[in-house]
Amino acid sequence: MKVRVDKESCIGCGVCVSVCDAVFELGDDGKSKIVAEYVEKDDDTESVGTVPDDIECVKDAVEQCPTGSITTE
Ligand code: SF4
Repeated sequence: MKVRVDKESCIGCGVCVSVCDAVFELGDDGKSKIVAEYVEKDDDTESVGTVPDDIECVKDAVEQCPTGSITTE
């Protein structure tokens, strides 16, 4: 699945990293990003990657992100 983090709305709370560190990490700017293993695009506004569908914690991160910054397709 495709996973996107909107860095403009991310507040760097770290919840996504706590629940799903196989996919998310905090970057130097304090915002969430897709880990190197899966990332395809990462700039100041967004981080996008393709993650294996069997990594189910992505769903938890989407649900628990307080700003709705993580989307999948
Ligand atoms: Fe950013 Fe949402 Fe992750 Fe918090 S849970 S660091 S707001 S993407």
